[in-house]
Amino acid sequence: MNILVLNCGSSSLKYQLINMDDESVIAKGLVERIGIEGSNLVHKPTGKDKYAIETPIKDHNVAVKLVLDALVDKEHGVIESTDAIAAVGHRVLHAGEAYKESCLVTEDVKKVVRECFDLGPLHNPANLIGIEAAEAAMPGKPNVAVWDTAFGGTMEPKAYLYAIPREYYEKYHIRRYGFHGTSHMFVSGETIKFANLDKDTAKVIVCHLGNGASISASIGGKCVDTSMGLTPLEGLIMGTRSGDLDPAIIEYLCNHENLSVSEVLNILNKKSGIYGLSNGLSSDFRDLNAAMSEGDEIATQTLEAYAYRVAKYIGSYVAAMNGVDAITFTAGVGENAVWLRPMVCKYLGYLGIKLDEAASEKAVGVPGIISTPDSKVKLCVIPTNEELAIARDTLALVK
Ligand code: ADP
Repeated sequence: MNILVLNCGSSSLKYQLINMDDESVIAKGLVERIGIEGSNLVHKPTGKDKYAIETPIKDHNVAVKLVLDALVDKEHGVIESTDAIAAVGHRVLHAGEAYKESCLVTEDVKKVVRECFDLGPLHNPANLIGIEAAEAAMPGKPNVAVWDTAFGGTMEPKAYLYAIPREYYEKYHIRRYGFHGTSHMFVSGETIKFANLDKDTAKVIVCHLGNGASISASIGGKCVDTSMGLTPLEGLIMGTRSGDLDPAIIEYLCNHENLSVSEVLNILNKKSGIYGLSNGLSSDFRDLNAAMSEGDEIATQTLEAYAYRVAKYIGSYVAAMNGVDAITFTAGVGENAVWLRPMVCKYLGYLGIKLDEAASEKAVGVPGIISTPDSKVKLCVIPTNEELAIARDTLALVK
């Protein structure tokens, strides 16, 4: 049974067609610059040559149509017709408090996606267009919404409430939701299997360190706490996002730099993080590491601040769970940046954690246990796979 996974961003569409019999990827690809000049599709069918075209793609409807055409194409295609697609799984950013699990798309689901536009202004509108485009292109085919906020749905009020007047929670549902939920759910579950932990009681901390970054604490695969909040701005230092800060900074900058609140928020989202802290050197961790290796003090300080924040969150999550069995690194930086791991682990000696540097060198983009056999807590690297997680949830709902 084949499942098509669609992940619509504001101007992009990532897709994978997965054969669920063996969970192999039959084809995957990316449409970029939707609605802007230079729109293009890169289609990678497994076992065949990559196929790329540049053509005007005015909206996500056209993009979905193009993807389906590529999948059934005589030359670059991988299936005879769209009949070979059993269902479509959609990554949807925000469900507010309405849905805490993946679900079949209904009119109510679409209403919720729409109601959450202001909580996920870049993603929810694109996600809805993706769903409607799939419905239009393949009438009657089941569509499933897999929410990025679902994993955080098991947090207790003590973890998700902000200490602001309660009426704002009651009126506007202002609370912490958490994001990267599909990744945290997948990686915490895989950690339990890979490290051979008890599936009901395992205490796991997942560090999803990519361009965006977040960290979660879960017990038996259920989220106890996670670092992103009402929006993805809270928590760790990220590529271009500040993460936690004193909210009074916003008013201060408005007054002293003559900026509007939206302009300051734009700076906090797009010009901060390691990019801002390194004076605009780069938002790419490879560049910062190269500069640090050459003795650049600002790059070194930036990466020290980044690792310190990760370690502080780990410490607070160990407290939240009263212990930890495994800590896992995942996503672009977590899976690949071997040099970052000792920078974080040097703060964790009090937990009896010992990094095995030789094992860590080998665990690049592949799963691995990177702690020594006598470490009190297992350190793991598990590559994230949000598409597979979406496909598994979709299959479970349409079976
Ligand atoms: P996202 O999905 O949030 O765009 P990814 O999880 O793909 O992010 O991670 C992208 C980031 O991973 C890039 O910003 C890059 O800095 C980092 N990255 C990728 N490869 C490496 C590497 N070998 N060493 C360090 N960082 C890396």
